[in-house]
Amino acid sequence: MPPRKSSPLDNVLGRLDDLDQQNLAILVQRLARERRLLETVFNTIREGIMVIGRRGIIDYANSAAANLLGFQLKEVGRAVLWKQVPELARTLHLADDGALHELSGISREVEISYPAERVLHIYIVPLNIEDPSPRDESERSHAVILSDITEEKESARQMIESEKVQSIIDLSAGVAHELGNPLNSITIHLQLARKQLARLENDARKEKIERALSVCGDEVARLDGIIKHFLEAVRPMDPDFADLDLVSVLEESLEFLGQELTDAGLSVDVELDSALPTVLGDRGQIKQVFYNIIKNARDATPTCGSIRIRTRSDDQFAYVQIGDNGQGIDQNDMPKIFRPYFTTKKSGNGLGMMVVQRIMRAHGGRIGIDSQKGKGTVVTLQFPQKERRVRLLGAASE
Ligand code: ADP
Ligand code: MG
Repeated sequence: MPPRKSSPLDNVLGRLDDLDQQNLAILVQRLARERRLLETVFNTIREGIMVIGRRGIIDYANSAAANLLGFQLKEVGRAVLWKQVPELARTLHLADDGALHELSGISREVEISYPAERVLHIYIVPLNIEDPSPRDESERSHAVILSDITEEKESARQMIESEKVQSIIDLSAGVAHELGNPLNSITIHLQLARKQLARLENDARKEKIERALSVCGDEVARLDGIIKHFLEAVRPMDPDFADLDLVSVLEESLEFLGQELTDAGLSVDVELDSALPTVLGDRGQIKQVFYNIIKNARDATPTCGSIRIRTRSDDQFAYVQIGDNGQGIDQNDMPKIFRPYFTTKKSGNGLGMMVVQRIMRAHGGRIGIDSQKGKGTVVTLQFPQKERRVRLLGAASE
């Protein structure tokens, strides 16, 4: 190993005995200043940095490390990394004495559940500060660097999932489209068969055949409906962005659905913020979002129930909230709500919420659902305000 270069500070420290009182004081002040500077730098960075000694005892930690792993800085010197992150101890197959015998760097991704559900990238590397080759390797200190990669993991997962969904959709849209021709042909031949049948004399057999043809006709119509809905739901949708006043879009949607809601015996309680910030959106698609959610609220709510619609905003987003006091959603069903064809209704097609999700994603928005079985459901739509969206789109195209 090459001899270590000595820093100017090392030089001074080497001549400590020669220093008089005054120079010693200057040296201590300088050391304190350097320490403060380093501490400030270490506590400013986002990554967690720690030094662990024997048995994984945390000898140093910056604030990010303490936050990520859920301990307090005053516990430094006592807290043990392996207890703080048992998931890490398991993946490293540590011996009972908690000593790390690795001489090279270790890099792991670990999912932790305390103090929050997070995915951390943990890099551990041996330190050669004082003793380049300690007699007992278990004595060696290690530097630990933690990065929070939860968001990257989540967006990678979402990307894979939406690619998967998209390829299934593309495939099924192709099949659905192909089904159109044979269905047309069946419809035409059913009509021909009916015409031929009408010419025959009435008897029991004719009646039976008529009934069978009528069942076939109904089923063909049903199939046709399923395919139409499906193709409607999965057709590519690049939004045609324009300045949108969500309040006016909501009012239009309510005007359109108003009669249906009154007929269902529901009251609609609407309070809209006339100064809601402008968003960028496709008017037709956003209306579709409101229809689908309001219709679900109607389906879930018994006569005399009510639907509550509110809008609000903060400095980045505009929010639309559509709530009902209907039957609510079963906790187990929550993760399935956006899946194509998930429905709990006899005549549902299970495509409404999938379409809502696709449209909201294309608008850079989010959907939140709060529901309590038997009490009701509140769907919150979050739209980025126009100013923010323009900035984001600009950044993406740079
Ligand atoms: P569909 O309305 O055809 O069933 P959706 O995709 O619109 O399909 O909704 C999927 C399912 O989500 C519904 O069948 C229902 O179980 C549940 N759901 C959605 N909105 C609500 C709501 N407001 N209240 C209760 N359940 C709801
Ligand atoms: Mg629906």
